[in-house]
Amino acid sequence: PAVAGPSEFRVRTSRKIERLDITKQVEEAAREVGGGAGALLVSTPHTTAAGTVGEAWDPDVTGDIERALEAWVPNVRFDHGEGNSPAHFLSEAIGVSRLVPCADGKLSLGRWQGIFLIELDGPRERTVRVTRLG
Ligand code: ZN
Repeated sequence: PAVAGPSEFRVRTSRKIERLDITKQVEEAAREVGGGAGALLVSTPHTTAAGTVGEAWDPDVTGDIERALEAWVPNVRFDHGEGNSPAHFLSEAIGVSRLVPCADGKLSLGRWQGIFLIELDGPRERTVRVTRLG
């Protein structure tokens, strides 16, 4: 089929802003959905979280990015009564999904790359969906 899945897993975050490595779980999902050359759509169905692909080797990068995200929120008026517009802003600015190439049940990531769930209004339990395209 052109589209298979989605395969789904849940993760628990423990801080307000947290960059969580989910590469292993996505690799597991890639094995489950299998297939030849194609792509996986990794997405999170939340309005205060995001998904990225980035540096996964040096753990210092995670702290650096978490601090950078906190500082990235613009100094504008937020009207939203729930008080979490900074998290909604970051979620929309970063995006809730990424396409990752895959082949034969394996992710085609660069040597230093990993896949991350970005928690922006934690701690919470979050869902990640992995849908195979092609
Ligand atoms: Zn809100």
